Amino acid sequence: MKRILFIFIDGVGIGSPGPHNPFTTLELPGWEALIGNQKWTEDYFVDRDEPTLVVKRIDANLGVDGLPQSGTGQASLFSGVNCAKLAGRHYGPFPHSTSRPILLTQNMFIQCQSISGSQPPVFLNAFPKRFFEAAKKRDRWSTTTRCCLDAKMPLKTLLDLEAGRAIAADLDGKGLRLVAGASVTTIDMDEAAKRMTSLSGKHSLSLFEYFLTDKAGHSENPKEAKIVLGKLDQLFHGLLQHLDFDNTTLVITSDHGNIEDMSTKTHTNNPVPLIAMGASASYFKDVTDLTGVTPAIISALQN
Ligand SMILES: [Zn+2]
Repeated sequence: MKRILFIFIDGVGIGSPGPHNPFTTLELPGWEALIGNQKWTEDYFVDRDEPTLVVKRIDANLGVDGLPQSGTGQASLFSGVNCAKLAGRHYGPFPHSTSRPILLTQNMFIQCQSISGSQPPVFLNAFPKRFFEAAKKRDRWSTTTRCCLDAKMPLKTLLDLEAGRAIAADLDGKGLRLVAGASVTTIDMDEAAKRMTSLSGKHSLSLFEYFLTDKAGHSENPKEAKIVLGKLDQLFHGLLQHLDFDNTTLVITSDHGNIEDMSTKTHTNNPVPLIAMGASASYFKDVTDLTGVTPAIISALQN
């Protein structure tokens, strides 16, 4: 059976090279290895359409004026419907009221459940108790957790994390440990890559969400950008070593630009990267914007 490991990275666009862009200033061999050892800047990040590797810049503006936001961008990404157009504007960080019925009926997990038989989709992130308490109190869930609720998929907890069935949102668990206490065991990026590899081998679709890139972009702090991009760099290095690309296709994309321009606190209008590496890569070659990713994932899993 074909499988997909989908790593969603919040707030990463492909922008102009220069001192404002950490993809220019930092050594990031793990990122670069994903696209043929090139820098993730607009002068080097070029389309590739090969049997086992598709690299594209895709549009995150979705025909709507203003700066893309996470709520409508992620709802579009995880449903295949242009939720920014539907809302009449970019909205975020949480899903817009007009996105809710779309997520409820056709989010990526629901679409996947109908075709994945004995290997149901999974959301790999582990959440601490305080996340559930805060979200329940105001019924405010992020797009991905809302998709899980709507698909009746359990969200992973710290017990799952300790049992090796989940991944901390900050990957190594160091930040989570500060929030949730000593029960969180920290791991290195090679271990995180190994765990993602083994968990993704048991599910048709495995999603991991990393939001600290967006946070670093908003911070305008180059040190923060260096830490988060460096961590992902090691993760990608590990995944390239451990993943079985004959059976699992690695898909990486984002919802809008941000961290590629550290000279501004805001999101950007830049295109976002789409990488599909592995046996089902070619299903992603015609994707042009955020709305194309879920349909491509479903097509890949159906075949
Ligand atoms: Zn943001």
